[in-house]
Amino acid sequence: MNLLRPLDDTLYLFDLMEQGLPGRSSGYLLVGSKTLLVDTGSSPSHTRILAALDEIGIAPSALDYCILTHVHLDHAGGAGLLAQACPNTLFIAQERAARHLIDPSRLIAGARSVYGDTMEALFGAILPIPEDRVLIRRHGEQLQLPDRTLTFYDTPGHARHHFSIHDPARAAIFAGDAVGIRYVTEFTGWDFEFILPSTSPTDFDPDAVATTVSLLQTLGAETIYHTHFGPSPAAAALAATKEGARAFAELADALYDEEMTWEELAMSLQGFIGADLRRQGYTDPLDMDRLGIDVELDAKGLLYWQRMKRTLS
Ligand SMILES: [Zn+2]
Repeated sequence: MNLLRPLDDTLYLFDLMEQGLPGRSSGYLLVGSKTLLVDTGSSPSHTRILAALDEIGIAPSALDYCILTHVHLDHAGGAGLLAQACPNTLFIAQERAARHLIDPSRLIAGARSVYGDTMEALFGAILPIPEDRVLIRRHGEQLQLPDRTLTFYDTPGHARHHFSIHDPARAAIFAGDAVGIRYVTEFTGWDFEFILPSTSPTDFDPDAVATTVSLLQTLGAETIYHTHFGPSPAAAALAATKEGARAFAELADALYDEEMTWEELAMSLQGFIGADLRRQGYTDPLDMDRLGIDVELDAKGLLYWQRMKRTLS
């Protein structure tokens, strides 16, 4: 079975099968003068990465770079395990993210507070990466390769330590979760696709989402490569992310009270998303459970953001 789906001459997408689910998380493999991977998924996905490399005849020891858009476990949780399997790979991350790759203890504690006892089952082992194999890229810095130059831009809003990768030669941005989540049929079972922002804990900031979208709009990209999931036309994805984050934030502003539980906010969020999809003409019975754990995470993140801004004001 072919794992790799070619997107162009030197770019492949493959499904990381995050938590065993299809259409959830993309791995992107760039080939050419160097071989690069964007995002590893969590540890159980590392076998998919090795199989993808094998399919194009690249030995694990020949994977040159792995770029991590941010260190949430569904993007970089498997990086330490991959570092063991691919002994020559250098890992590229934003400055704030890099320290968590070298010492994941705070990351593990943070994830445990979000996911509780299910964390290990969901994400597997989270291993450190030796410091000399982690490269930092700050806002505007580049990775220059013989046949292409990639530029890194800080893109907070979903996570403070998130960067995105601009690939001008293909007029594309590898955006991690900065330009929302693209829900595809393979994941939802619904016969249409759409984009929602990801407002998961603990960094969601709607103003930062708006600033990030404005920045990315200046790059003239035609395509967004989402980690969740696959490519989409840039203009529409950027607009949907900005508008969606604003709408989620307004909903939380309107409903919040001190006693509110995440379950209550998740119910309201489900109702809002369903109504919005119906307004767009999607009349299927929309079983919101198909969005998986995302609505729960979005509700928890919105509630955290509400509490933080009240604490700070
Ligand atoms: Zn994610």
